[in-house]
Amino acid sequence: MNAIWRWIGGPLVTFVAASVYVFAPAFRDAPPAPGALLLATVLISTLMGGTLSGLVSGVLGIACAAYALSEPGTFLVMTPPNLFRLCLVTIFSLGTPMIVARIKARGERRLRREKAARARVETANHELMVLHAAFDQVEHGVLVLDENLRADFMNAAFRRIWALGPDDAQRRPTFAELVERARHNGVHALPPFDAEAEDYVTRRVAVVEEGRDETIDLRLSSGRIMRVQCKLLDGGGRLVTYTDVTDLMHQSEIFERLATTDDLTGVFNRRHFMALAEREFADSRQEGCPLALLILDIDLFKSINDCFGHAVGDIVIRHVARVCREMKRASDILARIGGEEFTLLLPATDLDDAAALAERIKQQLVRNPVTVDGHELRVTVSLGVAVADPATTTVGDLMRRADQALYGAKRGGRNRVQQAIATPTARADQTPSAAA
Ligand code: GH3
Ligand code: MG
Ligand code: MG
Repeated sequence: MNAIWRWIGGPLVTFVAASVYVFAPAFRDAPPAPGALLLATVLISTLMGGTLSGLVSGVLGIACAAYALSEPGTFLVMTPPNLFRLCLVTIFSLGTPMIVARIKARGERRLRREKAARARVETANHELMVLHAAFDQVEHGVLVLDENLRADFMNAAFRRIWALGPDDAQRRPTFAELVERARHNGVHALPPFDAEAEDYVTRRVAVVEEGRDETIDLRLSSGRIMRVQCKLLDGGGRLVTYTDVTDLMHQSEIFERLATTDDLTGVFNRRHFMALAEREFADSRQEGCPLALLILDIDLFKSINDCFGHAVGDIVIRHVARVCREMKRASDILARIGGEEFTLLLPATDLDDAAALAERIKQQLVRNPVTVDGHELRVTVSLGVAVADPATTTVGDLMRRADQALYGAKRGGRNRVQQAIATPTARADQTPSAAA
C-alpha cells in the first residue's frame, strides 16, 4: 500500500490541488504567490512521507500547474495552447514521480542484487573456510593445482609430509618447485644427487602435467610410503592426493614373504622358485644364454636328527642355507625344495662354472662345521648339477636331470658333486659340432 501511495500519491495530490485551483472561482482570479506554492509542495512531500519521489513530484507538479494556470480565465477555453499546457501538467505530475520511482526502484534492485551477491560471497567464503578447516583434519595429503600447475590449496597433512610451512602455501609454488624442494629437503628416500634423482623431478611433473590416472608409491626418508594419485579437474586443474600406505605395504610385504619364502631358512619356497625359474628358463631360451641348476641334499641327515634331535637338525638346515646364500651371486635363485634339499638356479652359467660353484659350496661346508652346544658337527652335502640343453624343454626336465646327478653323487659315496649327463638327443646334436 505504501508503495502504491508513493507511486500515485504525488500526482494525485497535485491534480486535486490544480483542480481545486481551476474550479474555485476565488482562486482562479488570484493565482497563489510562489512562496505559497513552495509551502504547498513541502506540505505535499511531507504528506508523502518525505520521500524523494514525493518531493520531486510535488515540486514539478505544482510548478507545472502554476505555469499552466498562469493566465486565469483562459484555461477553461480549450484552445490548443491551453490543452498543451494541460497535457504538460498531466505528463509532469504523472510522469515525474513515475520516473523518480522507477529510478529509485532500479537503485533498490541494484542494491538488492549487490546485497545478494555479497551474501553469496560471504556464504562461499564461509564454506571455503569450513572446507579448509575440514581438509586440514584429513589425514591424507591434499594438493589442488590450477591449470598452470600452481598450488591453489594444500592441506596441513600435505605440508607436514613435505616439510612445508604455512607461508609456502601463500606463495602458491608450482608443482615442479614443490617436488624439487622436497628432494633437496631430503624428504624423499633418494640420494640427493643421484643420476636417477636428477631425472626424478621431470618424471614426477610429467605424470601430474599429463594428468595421468596413475598410482605411484613414493618412499620417504622417514621410512613412510606415500601412495600418490592424480585426478584431472574441470577447468584444467589437478587434484593430487597422498595416502600413507606404509602399514598396508608392510602387511602386503609380510604376506608376500610368507607366500614366497621358507619359514625355517628364509630362502624361497618351492612354489615361488618354480615361478621364478619358469621366467628365467624362458628368458635364457630367448636370449640364447646357458642356464644351469644344482640340487643339494644333506648327507645322512636322518642320523643327525636321530642323534641330536630335530631342533639340531633345523640348525643344520639353516646353516646349509646360510652358506649357500653367502656363496651365490645376486642373480642366482636359491630355494629350499624339500626337508634338507636345496636348489640353486644359475642364469648365464655353463655346466663347468655351475660344477665349480657346487664344489666350492661343498668345501665351504666341510671347512665350516656347525657348532651346537659347544660341539662341532661336521656336515657334508651331495650335489647334482645340470645345464639346460636343446632337449631340456622345461624347468622340470632340468630339475629331473640335476636330481639324477644328485642320486649319482649319493651312490658314488656322498660329499661329492656329480654333473648330469647330456640328454641323448642333445648328445646327438652336439656330436657333429664336437667332431667339427
Ligand atoms: P641321504 O644322505 O641319502 O640323503 O640320507 P638322509 O638321511 O639325508 O635321507 P633323507 O634325505 O631321505 O632324509 C631326510 C630327512 O630329513 C627325513 C626327515 O625326517 C628330515 N626332515 C625333513 N624336514 C625336516 C625339517 O624341517 N627339520 C628337520 N630337523 N628334519 C627334517
Ligand atoms: Mg633328502
Ligand atoms: Mg639327505
